[in-house]
Amino acid sequence: MVFESNETIENIEIAYHTFGQLNKAKDNVIWVCHAISANSDVMSWWPGLFGEKDFYNPTDYFIVCANAIGSPFGTTMPENLDFPSFTIRDVAKAHLLLAEHLKINNIHTLIGGSFGGYQALEFAYSFPHEIKHLILLASSARESAWGIAIHESQRIALKADPSFGEPNGGQAGMKTARSIAMLTYRTSEGLIKDQTDADAKLDNFKASSYINYHGDKFVKSFNALSYYYLTKCIDSHNIGRNRGGEVKALQSINIPTLVIGFNSDTLVPVRFQKFLAEHLPKSIFREFESKYGHDGFLKETEKITDAIQKFYRNTSIENSDAKRTILKFGGSSLYGKENLDKVTGIVSRATEQGPLAVVVSARGKTTDHLIKLYNLAKVGKDFTTEFEAFKNYQHQDLGNFDLTKDLNELETTLKAIQWLKANENEFAYDWVLSFGEIMSAKSLTHLLQAKGIKTCFIDARKIIHTELVLDEFEINVEKSRSKTQEVFQELSSNVTPIVTGFIATSEKGRTVTLGRNGSNYSATLIASFIQAKEVQNWTDVQGIYSSNPSIVPDALQIKNMTYREANEMANFGVNLLHPKTIVPLMQSKIPLVIKSTMEPTMPGTTINYEGGERGIKAVTMVDNVALVAIEGNGLSGKVGIDARIFTALQKKNISVKMISQASSERGIGFAISESNIKDTELLLNEEFKDELRKEYISSIRINNDVGIIAIIGRHNYALEKAISILRKNKIWMHLISNSISGEHISLVIDKGSLKEATRLVHKEVFA
Ligand code: ASP
Ligand code: MG
Repeated sequence: MVFESNETIENIEIAYHTFGQLNKAKDNVIWVCHAISANSDVMSWWPGLFGEKDFYNPTDYFIVCANAIGSPFGTTMPENLDFPSFTIRDVAKAHLLLAEHLKINNIHTLIGGSFGGYQALEFAYSFPHEIKHLILLASSARESAWGIAIHESQRIALKADPSFGEPNGGQAGMKTARSIAMLTYRTSEGLIKDQTDADAKLDNFKASSYINYHGDKFVKSFNALSYYYLTKCIDSHNIGRNRGGEVKALQSINIPTLVIGFNSDTLVPVRFQKFLAEHLPKSIFREFESKYGHDGFLKETEKITDAIQKFYRNTSIENSDAKRTILKFGGSSLYGKENLDKVTGIVSRATEQGPLAVVVSARGKTTDHLIKLYNLAKVGKDFTTEFEAFKNYQHQDLGNFDLTKDLNELETTLKAIQWLKANENEFAYDWVLSFGEIMSAKSLTHLLQAKGIKTCFIDARKIIHTELVLDEFEINVEKSRSKTQEVFQELSSNVTPIVTGFIATSEKGRTVTLGRNGSNYSATLIASFIQAKEVQNWTDVQGIYSSNPSIVPDALQIKNMTYREANEMANFGVNLLHPKTIVPLMQSKIPLVIKSTMEPTMPGTTINYEGGERGIKAVTMVDNVALVAIEGNGLSGKVGIDARIFTALQKKNISVKMISQASSERGIGFAISESNIKDTELLLNEEFKDELRKEYISSIRINNDVGIIAIIGRHNYALEKAISILRKNKIWMHLISNSISGEHISLVIDKGSLKEATRLVHKEVFA
C-alpha cells in the first residue's frame, strides 16, 4: 500500500472483526472506526451501543470493525522508527481495501468517535459506493493545535525513555504519555468528585493511584511505537488538506450525518462539532450534557442510542417524499371567519399531499393593536377602552374558543408597564408583541383540531434563538438548528405543528422579536433547519408582479424567478419579503411559493434556484431615497475619499444603495434612504470639514426629490431602451448604474416623474 507520504508498505495485514450476518438485501452493514486505544473487537469496548442486547446487535446488523494501521492489535504496525509515517487518510485507505475485500459497497452506517470519527470522515470522503448514514462523535474536521500540543507532550515523554524504539521498549515513557492523555479524556470536576480522598493523607492519594492504575493497564496491552505513530497520525487529520480547505471538503460529503458533541469535552470542544454540522450539507447536530468530557462518546450510550434512532427516523422521512412542506400564513390571511375557513381548507387539503408544518403571523391588525396598547402603557396612560376593543377583536371570529388566559397575562403585563411608566423598553415591547403570534398559533391549532386535523402548538421561543453580534440581535443558527431538529424529531409525521412566527429567545432567555414581518424569516429558517420540501407563503396577493399594479396597470404576474432576483426586488421597493428571509432558502435550495389565500388554486409565484426563463423580471421603483452629491476640484486624484464616506456612514449604520463617481474619486454621487438624510448630512460635514473649509470640496448636496427605478433581470438592450424612452419623454436621469452581473439596472430620476417613468420603462422593456 502506498501511503500519502509516497512511502510504501508491502503486504499490509489488516485485522478485523465482523459480527452478525450480511442480510439478503446487503443493506445492514455497520462500519465502526475505533478510537486510539481500542481495537477491532467493538463489542468489548463500546458496550451499551454495541452488544447482543444493544441497539447495534449482531442479530439485526452485520457489524465490521477493522484495526487501524499502526495499532498493536493485529494490523501491520511499526517495529522500529523506520516505519513510514502514515496519516488518517492512509488508515481510511486501508479500510477501503478491506471493504473491497469483503465486497461491501453499501454501508448502512459508518460510525466513529474521536480518532474513529476522523477515520470515518476520511472514509466517507473517499468511499466510492453508498454510505446511507454517517455518525461522528466528539470529532472534528481537522486536529486542533490544542490536540497536537497534547500529542507532542506525549511524544516527548515517549522519546525520553531510553529504551524507546526497541521492540517492546519504551514502557515507562508510554505510561507517562498515557497519563497525560488521561487528563484530557475526562473533566477536572469529575476527577475531583471521584478521586478526592476521604481522610487527610500525605501520600498515596486516590488520584495518584487512579493515574497509575490506568497507566499500568495501558502499558500491558499497548506498544510505545504504536502510540508514537498513532498520535502523529491523529495530528495529520485535516479533511481539507489539498482539497480546497475544510469547508469545501465537508460540503462535498453529501451523506445524512449525525454529529454528536458533549458539552464538557475540552479535548475536542463542541464548537468543532458545530463546525462539522454547519458545513456537512445533510447534517443534524446534537449536543449532550455529560459529566464524562471527551469520553462521553463511550459512556453516554443511552443518549447516543436515542439520538441515532431519531436520526434514522428522520433520514427515512427525508429520503422519501415525506419531507415537510411549510405553510406560512400572513396576518391578513388569518383574520375573519371567511379567511379562517379558507386557511383551514388549505391546510386540510395540504395534509393529504404530505407532512406539513405551519408558521403563523399575528392575526389581522393584532400587532398594530399591541403596539398601540404598549405605547399607552409605557407612558402610564389608561388603556382600558383599547384593551376591551382588543379583546373583542381577538374573539370576534373564533366561535367559542377562549383566549382569556393569554389576554389576562397580557393585561397584567401592560399594567406592570403602565405602573412602572417603563418608557421605551425593548424587552417589554417584544414581550407585549409576542402575544399576537402566540394567540394566533393557539387559535389556529384549535380551529384545525376542530376539523379533525392532528396539530400541536409550538412556541418558537423554544426553537429559535438569537445572539448579540455587534449590538444587533442575530439568529444563533447552530443553536436554533439543533433545537428545531430536536423538537421536530419528536413529532410524528401525521401531526402538523402550528408554530408562532416572529418570536425568539435571546441569549439571556428573554423574548425577542425578529422585526416587522419577521414571521417570514421564522418560516424560512425553520424550513432550512428541517430541510423542508418547500415553503408556501400564503398572503393577500396572488404573487409577485413585474411592477406595482396600482402604478403600472399592465404589470404581469411573475411565475418563476431566482432567489437573487427576488432579493433584488426586495431591496428595491417590493415589500413582500425582507431580503434576509431568502438567505436560508438559498443555502438549502428550498423553493418558496407565494400564494393567495383568497384564491388558493392560482399558481402564485415560485422563487427557486433555477428561476424561470431569462429576461427582465420586473421594473420597480422606490421613492423614499435621496441623492447625495459630493463635488469639488480638490478631490481630483485623491485616494481614500470613498473609504472615508463609507466609514463615516457606517457609524450610523447607513447603507449606500448605489454609487457612481467620475475619475479618481471626483464628483461622487450615491443614493441613500430618505430616513438617513439628517445623519448623512451631519456625518459627512463633520468628516470633510477640513476639505470644505479649504474648498477642496465645493459642496455636499442632498437631493430628496428623487427616486430610483430598478430594472431586474437580464436583458441585453434594457439599458438602451430605458434611456431612450426616458429621453424621448424628457425625463432626466441623475445617476445610472448597471450591476456587474448584468441583472440589475438602477436609474435615479426626479420624484415627480417617477411613476410615469416606471410605466414607460416597464412598457418599453416588456414590449
Ligand atoms: N406580527 C408581526 C408583524 O405584524 C410579524 C409578522 O406578521 O410577520 O410585523
Ligand atoms: Mg426622496
